[in-house]
Amino acid sequence: MTSHVTSEPDATGHFGPYGGRFVPEVLMAPLEELEQAYKAASADPAFQAELTDLLTHYAGRPTPLYYARRLSETLGGAKIYIKREDLLHTGAHKINNCLGQALLARRMGKKRIIAETGAGQHGVATASACALFGLECVVYMGEEDMRRQRLNVFRMRLMGATVVGVANGSRTLKDAISEAMRDWVTNVHTTHYLLGSALGAHPYPLMVRDFHRVIGDETRAEILKREGRLPDSIFACVGGGSNAIGMFHAFIGDENVKLIGIEAGGRSLKLGEHAARFEGGAPGVLHGAKSYLLQDADGQAALTHSVSAGLDYVLIGPEHAWLHDRGRAEYTSCSDAEALAAAKKLARTEGIIPALESAHAVHETIRRAPAEPGKLFVVNLSGRGDKDTDIYRENFPELDAADPNPKAV
Ligand SMILES: *Cc1c(COP(=O)(O)O)cnc(C)c1O
Repeated sequence: MTSHVTSEPDATGHFGPYGGRFVPEVLMAPLEELEQAYKAASADPAFQAELTDLLTHYAGRPTPLYYARRLSETLGGAKIYIKREDLLHTGAHKINNCLGQALLARRMGKKRIIAETGAGQHGVATASACALFGLECVVYMGEEDMRRQRLNVFRMRLMGATVVGVANGSRTLKDAISEAMRDWVTNVHTTHYLLGSALGAHPYPLMVRDFHRVIGDETRAEILKREGRLPDSIFACVGGGSNAIGMFHAFIGDENVKLIGIEAGGRSLKLGEHAARFEGGAPGVLHGAKSYLLQDADGQAALTHSVSAGLDYVLIGPEHAWLHDRGRAEYTSCSDAEALAAAKKLARTEGIIPALESAHAVHETIRRAPAEPGKLFVVNLSGRGDKDTDIYRENFPELDAADPNPKAV
């Protein structure tokens, strides 16, 4: 049964009470200019054709929709399909958005790109797109993240990007975004801010979502071809929310398809130990938009924690807040330990090592499958686990022993 549930922002960029444009006055005109340029580009067949060509021949779309037979049979319940965004160039879904925005920046005559990055995945995808188009690339990254993700810093530099360390605050993603916004205010005439998730002031949440819609569109067409029907449940991890909203969108009107977002449950659900915005967060404004925000007693953005840097952010994208309040999507959380266990299980049943972010979605899929025989599940595997090898090694020391014949594995 298809309903008339839709999810589009109003003319001021609000998804219900969320989203909007909470920025300094100097950014109002540039955001307006960006909105107009994006609208024109998205309606231009030449722009769409060039983007599709790049997604196909550069990024590697369409990605496979893979039936995980061994995982499904081991669990003895639902039939589980995996959307393989992990197979894309640079290792995650992020390249979809970076190619779209880089193409738009070129169209707008902007020759300088700035971006923020946490773990470095968005920075790497941005550096890659900028190299491809010959655009100057400056990536802001917290110094703490630079230390933890040295390899990604090197990859960005190898592709010609300048990585600027941010020493403010907790020296992580939130501080990097603030610094990138400061740069944008100063250099807005020459510079496009290539934001990495479905966050920020309008039109970013809409635009970033649209560049990722291809994930759900491909999934819908492919599952109809393979199974002759739509899935019963769809799972995706939610940091800012871009891979999840890209996957969910094609199914929003199909009310019988459950949409399940998984946030980072971290070490515990005590404030400061997780990034599950729907568990303890409340509406607030950060980085240009209103949405669910984890905040301390004074309403300041709280500290967060997750084993996966990509889910470790204090605000959720505004469209998710709206889907949540209307009950169209449900949200749950997965702890660090559960995500690590799910990653190991997927590695051992299917030979696929997921990104730690994606492992959060895999966990919820594994948790629900046994009780739902006959049901069709799709889990979005947003990225591959190569970037997380060091964290896996730390957490599975028994597999990393110097002893050539370790006993316990
Ligand atoms: C960045 C990242 C995420 C989180 O970002 P969203 O915008 O919520 O999708 C999830 N998975 C992977 C692999 C990432 O690199």
